[in-house]
Amino acid sequence: MAIEHTLSIIKPDATRRNLTGAINAKFEAAGLRIVAQKRIHLTKAQAETFYGVHKERPFFGGLVTFMTSGPVVAQVLEGEGAVAKNREIMGATDPKKAAAGTIRAEFAEDIEANSVHGSDAADTAAHEIAFFFAGIEIVG
Ligand code: UDP
Repeated sequence: MAIEHTLSIIKPDATRRNLTGAINAKFEAAGLRIVAQKRIHLTKAQAETFYGVHKERPFFGGLVTFMTSGPVVAQVLEGEGAVAKNREIMGATDPKKAAAGTIRAEFAEDIEANSVHGSDAADTAAHEIAFFFAGIEIVG
């Protein structure tokens, strides 16, 4: 399988509980390399743009409020099949349905405050990485 890049976000529920290192340890243990990382506080407009695909969904307003409620850590993960591998490490959107040992099973508070975002496909990964990072900031 090819080496890929994927966009990860450690969400405000996790930064608030000081879980950045614990989550990064899971990525690294699974063989994903953190090749870019920055801590930022999203504005409402930035969160609305990033999650624009969900703008008609009933949870959109709550999601934007949550994602702007505190700092996030945006990162680029690199590795073989990184997009699918990260989705596996994250676990299902709803932590009640997430497999044991996944980040969401261990750390998520609920279906909204679920600790991490991860790109769902290679094309969305490229788009989401470009939203947060310039090429010069990604150091493999
Ligand atoms: N979300 C929510 N309620 C729902 C579904 C999703 O609050 O019923 C939030 C949750 O934070 C999720 C994000 O919206 O991670 C994006 O949803 P998506 O279906 O893309 O899930 P993901 O790809 O993050 O697992």
